[in-house]
Amino acid sequence: MTGWPAVQVAPELPRTADVVVIGGGIVGAATAFFARRAGLRVVLLEKRPALCTLTTPASTGAFRLQFDNAEEIALVREGIELFDRFADVAGLPGYDLCIRKQGYLFCALTDAGAHHQRHFVDALHGWGVADVELLSGDEARYRFPYLSPHIIQARFRAGDGWLDPKRLTLGYIRASGAAVCLDTPAVGFDLQGERVTGVLTPHGRIACEHAVIATGPFAAPVAALAGLQLDLRPTIRQKLVIPDLPALPANGPMTIDEETAAHWRPGLNGCLALWTEAQTPPGEPLDNVPTSVDFAFGLLNPRSPRSLARLSPIWESVWQEGSLYWVLQAGQYTYTPDHRPLLGPSDVRGLVLNCGYSGHGIMASAAGSRTVVDAMLGRVRPEANPFRPQRTMVERPLDIL
Ligand SMILES: Cc1cc2nc3c(=O)[nH]c(=O)nc-3n(C[C@H](O)[C@H](O)[C@H](O)COP(=O)(O)OP(=O)(O)OC[C@H]3O[C@@H](n4cnc5c(N)ncnc54)[C@H](O)[C@@H]3O)c2cc1C
Repeated sequence: MTGWPAVQVAPELPRTADVVVIGGGIVGAATAFFARRAGLRVVLLEKRPALCTLTTPASTGAFRLQFDNAEEIALVREGIELFDRFADVAGLPGYDLCIRKQGYLFCALTDAGAHHQRHFVDALHGWGVADVELLSGDEARYRFPYLSPHIIQARFRAGDGWLDPKRLTLGYIRASGAAVCLDTPAVGFDLQGERVTGVLTPHGRIACEHAVIATGPFAAPVAALAGLQLDLRPTIRQKLVIPDLPALPANGPMTIDEETAAHWRPGLNGCLALWTEAQTPPGEPLDNVPTSVDFAFGLLNPRSPRSLARLSPIWESVWQEGSLYWVLQAGQYTYTPDHRPLLGPSDVRGLVLNCGYSGHGIMASAAGSRTVVDAMLGRVRPEANPFRPQRTMVERPLDIL
């Protein structure tokens, strides 16, 4: 296709590495990328027969600066800067992440929602996100004529958007030159004293200085192999894929109901639509994540309290017509108690964490993994890393995106 370096699938298990990255989703891939940039020899283990097939491809691939705290805003901002320059920084000329900056539009339909929006926009301006706009209902409809007459106010940031998460994952791995071992689960660690000195697989042992856990929903069971207990809470999240719905503007923003958090963004010739079920309990990590047709009806049926028809009459017509095709896809958010990732060395020497992204692992993959590699190499002091695993956790209410 081009002259980009290929993914280096190892013909046999390498016996040594500076760092073994465990997990071949976007977070493991980004870890490999930044480790290579730091001059380290990287082996990446993936238990499945292909890279990027669990949580990452189930995502919406979206990024935003509309967060409720300065630290996560900084984390995502750094990532977006990398995404914008990815082909150059990665040395992959012309490599296209399919970035679409079509904005995030949060729509309020109630006075309470509008009140919350005004305070939130003030706070965002205070955190340096100066380009978030507050729009009246009429201003919002003027710019986005598909919106419902019931929307009374909106907040909008044009620079938010989405990209292709699979392309980004494979781009990180191509650029990393990591030796990739497929069908190769990490099944244990060699511990000498209190220190990890190797990773065990069914095909043998890899001696290493550092092992990074980037196994998404499986981070806690992998950490437990080294005797480390992590409070991680994998929780099922679904996505409705509507491949063909030309009535929705293809150049429109991610359109979100401020009160219910039901949302869609353009994709394919239709959209991807989501909603976060706050009552879904956390469970075990899953290789096969189930879907439920009730999720689709909840978004599509205009009588549902979380219907997308609250946002636009297009959805009412689509429902009446009854001709829509869709498929459901699911993955798991891996929540930490404070919904921030665990980034950096763990209490087991040589064992490093890059997990717990709590639903933000695409947008935070770059800065998160850069932080992990810097922390692993002692280039960042623990106190300067707000995402260090040893921080005091404060339970945080559910952020519904
Ligand atoms: C429906 C949905 C929508 C989302 N939308 C967004 C979004 O718009 N923006 C955003 O930023 N985030 C989003 N997310 C979150 C994002 O997808 C995740 O945070 C991210 O994909 C996590 O990547 P990961 O590499 O940690 O995990 P994964 O992609 O799950 O990769 C982990 C890998 O580790 C492998 N593995 C597990 N155990 C082992 C082992 N013992 N040895 C070797 N390999 C192992 C697995 O097979 C897997 O390939 C969404 C998530 C869902 C479910």
